[in-house]
Amino acid sequence: MLDKNHRTISYLRLSVTDRCNLRCIYCMPEEGVQFLPHSDILTYEEMLHLVRLSVQRGIRKVRVTGGEPLVRKGFTGFLDILCRIEGLEEVALTTNGVLLKQYAADIRNCGICRINVSLDSLRPERFFHITGKDSFNQVREGIEEAERVGFDPIKINVVAMKGVNDDEILDFAKLAVNNPYHIRFIELMPVGGNGWNPDKFMSTDEIYQRLQSMGNWVPVKSNPYDGPAQRFKMEGSQGEIGLIGALSHHFCAVCNRLRLTAEGSLRGCLFSDEETDLKTPLREGKGDEALLRLIDWTIENKPKDHGLLSQGPRKCVRQMHSIGG
Ligand code: SAM
Ligand code: SF4
Repeated sequence: MLDKNHRTISYLRLSVTDRCNLRCIYCMPEEGVQFLPHSDILTYEEMLHLVRLSVQRGIRKVRVTGGEPLVRKGFTGFLDILCRIEGLEEVALTTNGVLLKQYAADIRNCGICRINVSLDSLRPERFFHITGKDSFNQVREGIEEAERVGFDPIKINVVAMKGVNDDEILDFAKLAVNNPYHIRFIELMPVGGNGWNPDKFMSTDEIYQRLQSMGNWVPVKSNPYDGPAQRFKMEGSQGEIGLIGALSHHFCAVCNRLRLTAEGSLRGCLFSDEETDLKTPLREGKGDEALLRLIDWTIENKPKDHGLLSQGPRKCVRQMHSIGG
């Protein structure tokens, strides 16, 4: 379905929980996080119902996210049903990898072949500083297990932060040279009062310059599954690099996304706190026609852009773990 700005909306990011087993500094404060009461979180049946309706309105790809999706009980059973929804062409998953070793084979058996794992440092002590948990080895083992059970590609999301992990850009790039991983550097975004400031921000142009000091990373022809990443490969590298300039090279003009939060609110834009409540009418038994009208309204009124560059860093009020990234 087209929005008012002639964009075809075909991609839904679905947050299955606001809970997480890590506390990344840019996403979730260490203390004082308000989690949703369990009764406010959509049941799996409710999520599946809303996804089926979204498919009727043109959604073809769903990315499951969170919080951390793998901490929700019964997750792989849900994924199995989600992957079999008729009309859905792709289901993908973003995870912090802590529980991946345990679940990789089950997830792969659901039919998912593409997975994104977040990992912001290759140094255990720094991983602890960024995430608040001592789980570095679990994540690395999770990635190895994902490779072993046949995920291809394995994408590794790295949020680049000056003064935090920017000295590891080349180490991550080497990982892409020596392994079949797609290392994706993501610009730090101002979300939910996460202390974003320009001193920590590292643009993808700066990252690219650092990468070029290592050798010639040449652009890879993009395919329809790339999304907003600019992709690069170096001669002889097994993997590749992706640069996601959500702020500096924003891709609002071609944004095809909707987001459904764990409490059943549909968002047209990560950075706009305008949300459509689907849970209340769903639980009041309002019927599919009413729900479809609300989905249509959200698509039609999807914000034209995130406005961050023109208006200075407006911060969306919700924290990232409750939207799903
Ligand atoms: N827990 C899972 C994970 O970390 O992969 C899924 C949810 S997490 C919110 C989804 C993605 O959003 C992760 O790759 C994370 O690094 C990214 N993210 C969270 N907060 C961010 C921020 N402020 N700026 C940029 N990326 C962020
Ligand atoms: Fe948890 Fe992912 Fe947020 Fe980190 S980025 S706190 S792993 S939801």
